[in-house]
Amino acid sequence: MDVSSIIAPLNDAQRLAVSAPEQAMLVLAGAGSGKTRVLVHRIAWHIKINHLSPQHILAVTFTNKAANEMRGRVEALLNISARSMWIGTFHGLAHRLLRQHAKQAKLPDNFQVMDSDDQLRIVKRLLKAMNVDDSKWPPKQVQWFINAQKEEGIRARHMAETGDFYHRQMLAVYKAYEELCDRSGLVDFAELLLRAHELLRDNADLLNFYRQRFQQVHVDEFQDTNTIQYAWLRLLTEGNNNLFVVGDDDQSIYGWRGAKIENIFAFQKHYPQHQVVRLEQNYRSTGHILKAANTLIANNDARMGKELWTEAGEGHAISLYSAFNEQDEAYFVVEKIRQWIKDGGLRSDAAILYRSNAQSRQFEERLMTTGTPYRVYGGLRFFERMEIKNALAYLRLASHHDDDASFERVVNTPTRGIGAKTLDDMRLLARELNLSLWQASERMLAENRLPPRASSALKGFIQLILQLGAETGGLDLHETVKHVVERSGLIELYKKEKQDKGETRVENLEELVNAARLFDYDSQNDENLSELDMFLTHAALEAGDMQAEVDEDCVQLMTLHSAKGLEFKLVFMVGMEEGLFPSQQATDDPGRLQEERRLCYVGITRAMEQLYLTHAESRRLYGKDNYPAPSRFLREIPPETLQEIRMRANISRPVAGSNAGKSSLGQKSGKYRLGQSVRHEKFGEGVVLQTEGDGEQERVQINFRNAGIKWLMLAYAKLDSV
Ligand code: ATP
Ligand code: MG
Repeated sequence: MDVSSIIAPLNDAQRLAVSAPEQAMLVLAGAGSGKTRVLVHRIAWHIKINHLSPQHILAVTFTNKAANEMRGRVEALLNISARSMWIGTFHGLAHRLLRQHAKQAKLPDNFQVMDSDDQLRIVKRLLKAMNVDDSKWPPKQVQWFINAQKEEGIRARHMAETGDFYHRQMLAVYKAYEELCDRSGLVDFAELLLRAHELLRDNADLLNFYRQRFQQVHVDEFQDTNTIQYAWLRLLTEGNNNLFVVGDDDQSIYGWRGAKIENIFAFQKHYPQHQVVRLEQNYRSTGHILKAANTLIANNDARMGKELWTEAGEGHAISLYSAFNEQDEAYFVVEKIRQWIKDGGLRSDAAILYRSNAQSRQFEERLMTTGTPYRVYGGLRFFERMEIKNALAYLRLASHHDDDASFERVVNTPTRGIGAKTLDDMRLLARELNLSLWQASERMLAENRLPPRASSALKGFIQLILQLGAETGGLDLHETVKHVVERSGLIELYKKEKQDKGETRVENLEELVNAARLFDYDSQNDENLSELDMFLTHAALEAGDMQAEVDEDCVQLMTLHSAKGLEFKLVFMVGMEEGLFPSQQATDDPGRLQEERRLCYVGITRAMEQLYLTHAESRRLYGKDNYPAPSRFLREIPPETLQEIRMRANISRPVAGSNAGKSSLGQKSGKYRLGQSVRHEKFGEGVVLQTEGDGEQERVQINFRNAGIKWLMLAYAKLDSV
């Protein structure tokens, strides 16, 4: 292997960044310009040219999937093993640090990571125990408050007990929450980061050790780091000037979760010796796509200013499709994908990107009906499903009795007659005496505080958990999982559930056993942890990717947020509607609107060859009918890059329901009837075909002689009878 394989596949600006002397570096560049490629080659450069051992390299990526890919690419470039390189997400790396130094981090050796669902449960329980009115302090808001503080590095004890009552109450809950987590050895996602920061900050020896170990630190997607993540990077690198970051201010899309674009400015201040490299050539997309992205994002202000160009030709125009409703939209998209496959395209080169997870269902149904394999990323991910979480809770509890979140989850699943009163008493006792729920139940039983029925039910539960622990000692991971799933009574419970749902749940539990069998303990890279604990952590941290083992060629479905960093030949951005994208909350908030626009920029720039934008004229979402206007972002795309696709006549559309049929528009308004001739000021003469909706939402479908069939909102359409 010679140097040229590292340098040859790069342009001049990329080479400059890859081969720069060791110093702080900021590669600031738009989408598809090769930032991630630069990062990979920079790491290879250090190993090959600077003879750095992989263990001296730290790299932070945005997802675990990206981390695995990056490791693979470095290994392929150099033909070596990069196992000893620390590479992962901020959360993954923080977790690894905390495991290795649990004591210094003031955590029990067997601390458990909980996901946001578990966190919410605990918050709810606390509000109840503290008698806090959850209509004034909604659990989700409290959860958000706690996480927001942690992301800024603020502990409850740092906060002044001043301010209004609302604030003081929040603070009190935050405090109680911290106590409870400490007591039960639970660590939420934000806590991972905060504690990893405190660990290094407060332990000079440890910090020194890691500062020497990580001689080069690399960060992808730097624009989406939050305060505490950046503070952690600074601890490791400041003064050494060995921080290499790549990012794009136009792709900052996690502001709502505490990410700070300002970190880019802060970097320039904190690392005065840094160099900036800008990349301007885009290698990903064809001309029309790139032009659309450039023009759209120019509507944002306070940009760092970048223009991208491409050598690729203009390529296909971007297609715009106005669907009748969300089913029609799904029908259209899936037809286009089927055509793509028929023409020899790979399914995995096609992606459907949406703003909100709730949109995926229509596409899934259509893909299923047509027998097209697909995979949904994110959403209700495997490890987040109720039955899986219940099984995991049994597993956790069997090995960590003080895990309150798990205790709460399964103490009465399946129901075993432990009443609400018993549980409330238990929670109260736990809170008063600073005990875990497990300890509180033991005490209640020992002191005979319960009526006989409740007492025997609780005893049964405690016995079961103890037995699970004893029976699985020495078993392989998948045998342990299998045993716990069966003995816990979950399988039986779901078998009794109605039809498909129960069946799917049972299948999922079987899949969990399978996942345990396939679980690659070695790749998790952790010396100090049992296989079961590694598996449980994996489940909490990486909810989505367990099905990644399946190598089938699948259509890719995901939110725009999770598409960051990826690329696909064929991309559909669906639901381009006001109120959905941009989201409702963003429409009256200029800051959020700009973030939505960046998200749109991210979406457009995922496409390599073909991009479809779709919106529906009517959409049922969260149980309500909406008639949204097309997204403003569609208007911000230059018309010369767009081509409109006409509504297809062969799509079966829902005819107005029999009710609507009877009370047709003509009868309701007394103005029009089916078959009646009307005139529209723009479309000319036509005939009323059908109507639907009521009041403001009343719509009428008209066959215009010259303009074809159209649906019009009666409230806006200027129609005259002829
Ligand atoms: P994003 O901002 O979306 O994360 P990025 O800047 O990280 O994009 P990459 O994903 O690294 O961009 O690169 C985009 C595509 O261009 C990839 O397919 C990559 O292999 C290709 N590419 C990058 N640089 C070059 C180059 N010099 N020659 C040929 N192809 C390149
Ligand atoms: Mg990238």
